[in-house]
Amino acid sequence: MPTHGKPTDPSPSNEALRVHQEFADMPPVNPRDRERPTQDGWRDMAGLSADVGYYGQWVWNEAFAQVGHLYPKVRLPKEQAGVEATAVAWLWARTIRCPACAASMPLVRSFWLARRRGSATWLEPRSDELSQRVWFEVVAGEPPSTQVQGISAGARILDRSGSRSTASFRCLVCGEGAAGRHYVDREMSEGRAGYAPLAIVVDGPSGWDFAGFDGEQSDAALGLADRWVSERRANAPSGQHIARQLAALAAFSDVVGRARPYIIHDMIDHYSTGSSSPYATVERDTASYADGVVAYLRLLVDACAEGWSSAVPLELPRTSTRRWPVGRLTSRAQGFAEVNPFCEAPGSWASQLRAVARAIQPLPS
Ligand SMILES: [Zn+2]
Repeated sequence: MPTHGKPTDPSPSNEALRVHQEFADMPPVNPRDRERPTQDGWRDMAGLSADVGYYGQWVWNEAFAQVGHLYPKVRLPKEQAGVEATAVAWLWARTIRCPACAASMPLVRSFWLARRRGSATWLEPRSDELSQRVWFEVVAGEPPSTQVQGISAGARILDRSGSRSTASFRCLVCGEGAAGRHYVDREMSEGRAGYAPLAIVVDGPSGWDFAGFDGEQSDAALGLADRWVSERRANAPSGQHIARQLAALAAFSDVVGRARPYIIHDMIDHYSTGSSSPYATVERDTASYADGVVAYLRLLVDACAEGWSSAVPLELPRTSTRRWPVGRLTSRAQGFAEVNPFCEAPGSWASQLRAVARAIQPLPS
């Protein structure tokens, strides 16, 4: 067996390994689980797994208190039952500046969101030349056959025959500006790229569905999130995160930073009630165990920093219970999906937490 001392490299994964070695077969310390009877005791890492699950949920609650207002529920229109739904992900287009009119130019390779016989959903661009604004409406149904080609082409330019879309994009505001690959690359590398709202994937009354951005959704994602980030000077090293992703990461990592004393408090509270805890009287073990749980929570934040990034295309897996092939979206649209950290879908904090808690397995002996 390896020794019990602190490893020389205090990286989260080494911390996690250390706590595995030191605390096997011990019951959890959190107040919800520690008095709960189990069939065969807390074998192997079951206690640690329960604690990571409990304190991970506490992190969710505290982070939601900080930034939950940036993630409002989506009000669905009457045709979609008129209820409030949880957003699974917000879909964004990348934008550059139009070479002709300088309006923001969304680079959308296709306006299809979902295409199935009888239940197609697509984006219809709307624009206002005076304000140089462009936005998208989500339309569902069966498109007229004359529109199908245009929907498939998205913002790409059709060739002279009008049948095939080229690699160049057109401006949806002035209709004049055209951007080829070199122009797009230059705009992006010179920092003039931005992002614009496309649609929202929601967990609706009849499964996953699409909804448009309304004023409240745009304001939360852009205005409120920008303000939150600039007031706190939150920063990400990679520059690959939009403001709201920065806000979420800053909030989650701030809360994880406060978890250690909270866990220690729970443990001390437990001993003082006269429990025969295996941690009792060993001061060092209290801090040491808390460090281990926190190491797992930090691993979780690291995983989220990768997933909640504008560099990562949408990778939500297709599952039989979900209606839309969401995983395919970003291969067709030049954009990215911003997963809702506070939903239950793949990529959310809750789903990553479940995966980490499950992964805490017994060490091979
Ligand atoms: Zn233009």
